[in-house]
Amino acid sequence: MQIDGRCLCGAATWTADVDPRKVVACHCTDCQTQSGTTFRTIVPAEEGSFALTSGSLRIFTKTAESGRLRDLAFCEACGTPVYGGPGGGGPGFLSLRVGPILQRAALAPVAQVWCRSAMPWLDRLASLPRIETQPGANTARERS
Ligand SMILES: [Zn+2]
Ligand SMILES: [Zn+2]
Repeated sequence: MQIDGRCLCGAATWTADVDPRKVVACHCTDCQTQSGTTFRTIVPAEEGSFALTSGSLRIFTKTAESGRLRDLAFCEACGTPVYGGPGGGGPGFLSLRVGPILQRAALAPVAQVWCRSAMPWLDRLASLPRIETQPGANTARERS
């Protein structure tokens, strides 16, 4: 399927083709740190399909635990993570970040990776009280 990406500030937009059967949730500490959250949902772009349609990206090159270099691309204006890829823009697939993809609801993970660093409380999330928007807003409260 074709996806459309859009960063938080709207400056960067991109398109790519992905296979929804290849979506994974990554619990590695790099994903936790750079995404600013508990885990990151990712999907590989089909080879050569990624196209930046507006804006510009900055690249931070990180040395992975394997010793390989990884290019981490993000919107230079607002910092929204866009993809991770081979160091120096070398050959290999780009790992798209699902968060800023407009079709993200259709991209459910089929597996979890790097579970050794997964947060131990994740399994309890589904049983917590649910609030539809910001706490204190005039909204109904639901419990599952
Ligand atoms: Zn942006
Ligand atoms: Zn990761």
